[in-house]
Amino acid sequence: MRITHGRIFEKLKYYRNFFKKGCYLPDFFKPLYFSEKNNQVNIVTYPAPVLRQKAKPLTEINADVYKKAEKMVELMRRVHGIGLAAPQVGWSVRLFVIDVVGNNVDDNVFINPSIMEEAGETSNEEGCLSFPGIMGKVIRTHKIKVCAYNLNGQKIEVVLEDLLARAWQHELDHLNGCLFIDRMSPASRLAASQQLKELEQSYKKDRVPV
Ligand SMILES: [Zn+2]
Repeated sequence: MRITHGRIFEKLKYYRNFFKKGCYLPDFFKPLYFSEKNNQVNIVTYPAPVLRQKAKPLTEINADVYKKAEKMVELMRRVHGIGLAAPQVGWSVRLFVIDVVGNNVDDNVFINPSIMEEAGETSNEEGCLSFPGIMGKVIRTHKIKVCAYNLNGQKIEVVLEDLLARAWQHELDHLNGCLFIDRMSPASRLAASQQLKELEQSYKKDRVPV
């Protein structure tokens, strides 16, 4: 199943309305453009091995962590994503950023996150910054109670639903080396198989032999 531009714009319109505050479009609907390059942090694309590693818990929130997290928030916003996990910038630690409430960087960074309670099920299309051009149906828990630390080391507990719950689960999966293609419906996975092959080939081609 390939996504036409018409379908993408329909989705974007829906989510613009969903977030009345004019916030950023979800990363699920923005993966067509990426091969984000900058001098700071870069998005790592499939099948980079770091995406399959189980990330390590952060034991200290120091200036380096703060700086990197800040750059991840900047990058996520620049590419109009809703979420970005540390392994996606080649940093294998349990941290992700989600554009939940706007301007304050601290509010968007989640460290050593976990899901405490889950309820209901929902199916929708997702994309991922590490899989440019690929989308597919994924079943997720509809409502979750989550726990994490922010950049100030404060513990946060919050209940999330719908898109934010989906984004949280997607990013948490990244920290466990689980990718959205692993959870895709068989039909979506099949539809994406050619694009996945192309990503694999282009990754091989781009690697410099040592
Ligand atoms: Zn992702």
